[in-house]
Amino acid sequence: MHELAVTESILNLAEQYARQAQAQRVTDLSSIVDDSVQFYWELISQGTLCEGSKLHFQRVPARLICLDCTGEYTLDGELVPCPTCGSSKVKVTSGDQFYLDSIEIEKNGDAPASQS
Ligand SMILES: [Zn+2]
Repeated sequence: MHELAVTESILNLAEQYARQAQAQRVTDLSSIVDDSVQFYWELISQGTLCEGSKLHFQRVPARLICLDCTGEYTLDGELVPCPTCGSSKVKVTSGDQFYLDSIEIEKNGDAPASQS
């Protein structure tokens, strides 16, 4: 249940931020997470400041290191061999992570910033 843990972390982060900003409600937030989080998001945000908020996703580009030439490179999509030496002996150094990219909140008396 890795995704659930990730989703809970995002929710905690968003709630923390929203309280600091004295928000009534979180309306919109962007986060760099896996798509599967959306499912959990709707579930666990019920009854919180984040209930009904829109969550936007962006994948983190994976960082890879080549074990043959120690060159580092970034992946946008599919796994490709090292662009420097062509080796496929590579290791993911990062990419299994997420962060809160942006957040939109609603304060007392404020109208939602955007409606669509
Ligand atoms: Zn290489």
